[in-house]
Parts: sequence; structure tokens; C-alpha cells
Amino acid sequence: MTDRSEKQTLEYKGRVGEERRLKAKVAIVTGGASGIGEATARVFAEQGARMVVLADIQDELGNQVAASIGTQRCTYIHCDVADEEQVQNLVQSTVDAYGQVDIMFSNAGILSPSQQTVPELDMSQLDRLFAVNVRGMAACVKHAARAMLEGRVRGSIVCTASVGGSHGGPNATDYIMSKHAVLGLMRSASVQLAEHGIRVNCVSPNGLATPLTCKQRGMSEEEGQEVYRKYARLQGVVLTPKHVADAVLFLVSDDSAFVTALDLRVDGGFTLPSISIS
Ligand code: NAD
Repeated sequence: MTDRSEKQTLEYKGRVGEERRLKAKVAIVTGGASGIGEATARVFAEQGARMVVLADIQDELGNQVAASIGTQRCTYIHCDVADEEQVQNLVQSTVDAYGQVDIMFSNAGILSPSQQTVPELDMSQLDRLFAVNVRGMAACVKHAARAMLEGRVRGSIVCTASVGGSHGGPNATDYIMSKHAVLGLMRSASVQLAEHGIRVNCVSPNGLATPLTCKQRGMSEEEGQEVYRKYARLQGVVLTPKHVADAVLFLVSDDSAFVTALDLRVDGGFTLPSISIS
């Protein structure tokens, strides 16, 4: 027989009313100076996070974003995720300043400048891309997991993969390879950390207009949105960083308290296989 108080702790209460979903949480967002990272940092702060630590290599932009969110709620730290020591410092200085890490949104990523078809693969570009997209993600997950384990925090880790992590493509071979690796990292981490109450998931957007895609292809944001509008079954909506940020919010909040090892696609149905039966 479970007594009433024990039963209450086993009951899932979910979200009640309009309370803010990240109340008192300490979050790190890598790649937080722009695009999906910036939008997510804003959502985290709006949802009551005690502190959002932005990490990026664009210092001026990162400091501007942190200031516009408000220095009570958000701070910027320079961190090149390709350098494990910098990632370790990022996590340690967050623990030193704010006591713990509840949320790691490992999101920083790059695209190679050239097309990177298989016959034309530039190996030095591939090495640089892997240093950020794979080794950088792994360092962020590793050091966040260590901090959560040491602090006995039932935290949440989200990595930004991509729909390219589950498909082949006509170009961007190194990028697609790297996002397959991110999904493998997430699945291994979720298996290993579940017994400690730490959840690990991925968010996988389809193409959207951010500096990552637009700068690389010489497009304005408006041109990018036109291009990416075609990349969704779902009509009447264009994928924006805020859509992705809201999916990340779900993954880091208690609304997904029993969800781990999920690859949450935010792609307007683009990758949905379909057959016609006549
Ligand atoms: P973005 O260029 O707007 O933001 C990426 C941020 O990462 C930038 O601020 C950049 O300075 C930072 N960054 C790059 N290298 C870094 C490093 N070594 N250390 C720390 N920060 C670094 O692009 P975005 O579209 O917001 O990209 C965010 C994530 O979303 C990436 O992982 C990307 O692969 C992924 N993604 C993007 C798309 C898309 O179409 N835009 C689609 C699927 C997945």
C-alpha cells in the first residue's frame, strides 16, 4: 500500500496554470549569439530561468544579446566549443557562479563553405566541421553530464541535430555525417544517464533562414525564407528560430518529464514518408 504522500510524488502533475516553466533553472546555451540559440535563450529567460549563460565565439553579438535579455537573467561567456578546455571552463564557471547546471542546450554548429559533395570532399573543411559539430557537441554533453552527476541534478540536455541526421543529401556531406553523429551521441548519453534522472534529447529542424544558411549561400533572410518555405508540407507557416526554441522549451521543461532519447523533428512534415494507395 502506498500512503497518500508517496502516491502524490508518483503522480504526474504536468503544467498547472500559467506558471513559468523554467522557474529557477540555470541554463547554458551554446551558439547563443544568433539564430536558434538566441531565440531559445530569450524563451528560457521569458519562462523564468534564473540564469541563462550564452556561450559563443561572436563576443560583441553575444554581449548585445545578453544585454538585451537583461543582465539579471542572462550573461555571455566566450567559448569555442571545439576547445574542450573552454567548454570545461564554461560549465565550471556556471556552477561556481550559479550553483548548478540544470539545462544544457548544445546548439553551436557550422556548415562548410564549399558544397562538400563526396567526390569533392575537402578534408580540412571536414576536420574543422567535425571539431565543432561533433567533438564540440560531445564536450558540451560530457561536461554538462559531469556537473549534473556531481551536483545530483536531474537535468535536461538537448542537442541540435538536423533532419539531415537521418537522411542523405546531394551535398553538405560532412554536415550530414556530423548530424548523424549527434544523434548517436544523444542516444548513448540518454541510455547512460537515464538511471540518474538526466534526460537527453535532440531537436532536429529542417532548413530555416539564419546566418548559418543565408550567409553561406549569399542570401538575405527574406530570400532564405522563400527558399525554405518550399521545404515543408505544412503550409501557411515559415519555420523560424522561435518555432525551434519552443520545441526546445518542451524538451527542457517538466512537460516532457518522461521523455528521453527523442529526436524531435521540427520540419513541417518535410521528412514524412508518404505512399499513395489507389
Ligand atoms: P546561426 O549561425 O544563426 O547560429 C550558430 C551560432 O553558433 C553562431 O552564433 C555562431 O557564432 C556559433 N558558433 C559557431 N561555431 C562555434 C564554436 N566553435 N563555438 C561556439 N559557438 C560557435 O545558425 P543556426 O541556424 O541558429 O544554427 C544553430 C544550430 O542549428 C546548428 O547546430 C545548426 O547545425 C543547426 N541547424 C540549423 C538549420 C538551419 O537551417 N539553420 C537546420 C538544422 C539544424
